[in-house]
Amino acid sequence: MGRILWGEAIAAEIRNELQARIANLGRRGIVPGLSIVRVGDDPASASYVRQKEKAAHGLGLLSETTVLPERTTEDELIDLIASLNGDPRFHGILVQLPLPSGLSPERVCGTVDPAKDVDCLHPENMGRLVRGDPYLLPCTPHAVQQILVRSGYPPAGKHVAIVGRSPLVGRPLSILLSQKGAGGDATVTLCHSATPDLGTFTRQADILVVAVGRPRTVTADMVREGAVVIDVGVNRVEDPSSSRGYRLVGDTDFDALRDVAAAITPVPGGVGPMTVTMLLVNAVAACEKQVGEAR
Ligand code: NAP
Repeated sequence: MGRILWGEAIAAEIRNELQARIANLGRRGIVPGLSIVRVGDDPASASYVRQKEKAAHGLGLLSETTVLPERTTEDELIDLIASLNGDPRFHGILVQLPLPSGLSPERVCGTVDPAKDVDCLHPENMGRLVRGDPYLLPCTPHAVQQILVRSGYPPAGKHVAIVGRSPLVGRPLSILLSQKGAGGDATVTLCHSATPDLGTFTRQADILVVAVGRPRTVTADMVREGAVVIDVGVNRVEDPSSSRGYRLVGDTDFDALRDVAAAITPVPGGVGPMTVTMLLVNAVAACEKQVGEAR
């Protein structure tokens, strides 16, 4: 039976380390501030934002969320971001994605001050990551990297296959894990919807990361014995036995994969809590950089 890699346990360890840095800023009278912007009524987004705000408050950060109606125009959203860029209380700004149709995430995220861009979606910060000189690390890719490193599965020298090439997860993760140095040095294969015979590639992986957004995309026959599997996917599937009428599952056939893999992250409870924690890491790091606190 493969080991279960619980994200919450690692997240607690990282939050513990952050406390000393927050206290250090506090001695100078500085409280790291995170502004979250949410547009529309998507219930999953509302739930993610609540988790982020709760986690930020839990560490004593200033965190405020602005919720805009579904019909908000791009200009109105960009005006709000401009005012947050100029608000010295906030060291980090996060625009919760996805945005309602008609609003371009690329254009909107491109207006966040790169110094406050805790999601690392500004083109300048994406460029710096590609160049190997990141300002901050993107939250979900950083979460995956830290789960691997802190669980005793550093990616160096391993073959990592990533399924999914989105700008939020798969693409930046492929860059992060293939970078030279600590936490990197992997050989990475990036798979996507146009990859023919996905299993040919996933079966060669020592470490397999799946970020697709479709349940059971990866089944046990697609995984090599002893591989480490990180399941990033979060999907709602109908479940009349649950009080909510649905339950959350990942992108892999978790129970079957446990018989094959050396270790696997669960959904929920794996990458999710770690992503939230890496956002707090970025809010604190952005604050330190803006106030000239050396690390
Ligand atoms: P996305 O933007 O929709 O990207 C999905 C990627 O999967 C695309 O690159 C797509 O390929 C690829 N894909 C789709 N079907 C495929 C198939 N049958 N075989 C191989 N590749 C396939 O999604 P995302 O933002 O990366 O998110 C992926 C999942 O992770 C979602 O369930 C999301 O909710 C979850 N997520 C979780 C966290 C967390 O903290 N736990 C954070 C972010 C996202 P093409 O590029 O060819 O279309």
